[in-house]
Amino acid sequence: MSLTYCEKFGFDADKITERLQWLELGTTDHTTAQQLQKDIIQPNADTIVATFYEWLPTLEEARILLVDDELVVRLRQAQSQYLLNLGIAFDQADYFESRLRVGQAHVWVGLSLSLYQCAYRYLGDLILRHIDYQHTDARKLTTFMHKIIALDMSLAIETYHLTHVRALEESLDRSQRQQKTLRMDAATDSLTGLANRKTIIDALGRVLQQPRQESHPVVAIMADIDLFKEVNDTHGHLMGDKVLAEVANRIRSALRDFDEVGRYGGEEFLLVLNGASLTTSKNIAERIREHVHSQPINLQGLEIQVSISLGVAAAHADETTDSILARADKALYAAKAAGRNCVVIADA
Ligand code: GH3
Ligand code: MG
Ligand code: MG
Repeated sequence: MSLTYCEKFGFDADKITERLQWLELGTTDHTTAQQLQKDIIQPNADTIVATFYEWLPTLEEARILLVDDELVVRLRQAQSQYLLNLGIAFDQADYFESRLRVGQAHVWVGLSLSLYQCAYRYLGDLILRHIDYQHTDARKLTTFMHKIIALDMSLAIETYHLTHVRALEESLDRSQRQQKTLRMDAATDSLTGLANRKTIIDALGRVLQQPRQESHPVVAIMADIDLFKEVNDTHGHLMGDKVLAEVANRIRSALRDFDEVGRYGGEEFLLVLNGASLTTSKNIAERIREHVHSQPINLQGLEIQVSISLGVAAAHADETTDSILARADKALYAAKAAGRNCVVIADA
């Protein structure tokens, strides 16, 4: 028998030994198990099952679950088997496996743990009723029955508990993944996949607050697609969207991994270079400009030539988000005025 449930519920050899110790089930109990089967269970199994299934539907919760006769026949057969194995080789992993399987089946059927325990109490009692107090081993048999009932019950409780814990863990996992997706969605611009306006401005604010060397300031770059209105007017708004997304890709791929870029507005991007000298920043801005302009964008058999203008501002020691954005914006306007497709460095 494969040990799927033992593995699932963590019943390795150590845990099995521990559980048997807790219940004081030892090797001498095997003889009692045989005796219990031969003298009590085997001669009475049919009566026990019949009585049990007369009683069970008197409980409303059980009656609802016993939906058809076919199911009841199957359950009665399963219970017969269960009784005829009760206690036999109780210290083997297979025994634990079959008990855990039964517990798990009850969870899946939707039987509450309380009803399971109460019904099990009744079943145990039906067996105990057949132990004659005059029997010389009556006490030994009764004690063994209690141990074996406790073993089965403890395993059932474990399957119920762990199945619910696992279900909760899975649902927690799912909602954490959903939350992550929602957070991502809320922070991302859906057209370009870049950070949205709020995210990139927040990022700029954060890096401005970090201490850094004067030679490696925070640099904000405003980039704006040149004459983008014409792209829309000529090719339509949908093509305009695709061009915008491609320009965003080109900007992103020309940046270093630790730089950040977001869509600041319509066809305008904000880039945050984290600790770059002004010369490096100018080179990066030039590289981006070149990367956007060097190849036309191929869309639906058309070649669309685009360019961007960029305004570069390096942060002063006491620069705020607003002031550095204003300076980068002013430099961007200067780049537009200078004929577009160029980089202008902001005044200090
Ligand atoms: P300039 O070089 O001076 O920046 O010229 P421009 O045409 O790019 O600037 P203008 O501000 O006149 O026009 C910007 C255009 O960008 C107008 C607007 O419809 C378009 N635009 C803004 N956001 C989107 C967008 O999400 N999708 C598309 N397709 N167009 C957009
Ligand atoms: Mg523009
Ligand atoms: Mg613009």
